[in-house]
Amino acid sequence: MAENRSVGGLFCFEVLAQLSDYVDGELAAEAKAKIDAHLSGCDACTKFGGEFGAVVGALRQKVRAEEGLSEAGRLRLLSKIP
Ligand SMILES: [Zn+2]
Repeated sequence: MAENRSVGGLFCFEVLAQLSDYVDGELAAEAKAKIDAHLSGCDACTKFGGEFGAVVGALRQKVRAEEGLSEAGRLRLLSKIP
């Protein structure tokens, strides 16, 4: 897990707490810029964030491609994915 050090004005735990919003592109520009700055200087979060993004992306794709799901079921599952 990431170390707790401050890079770019954010601690690792603050970055991790916002990571799912970051992956979703739901963060305000200012918050996103801070995370970008942290990621560019923090190997631990870059590695974790990259893996997290890949796993979440793959899960979403799988749910979207699943043909046996009703639209409501699909939305319910997607809402469970960070
Ligand atoms: Zn970090």
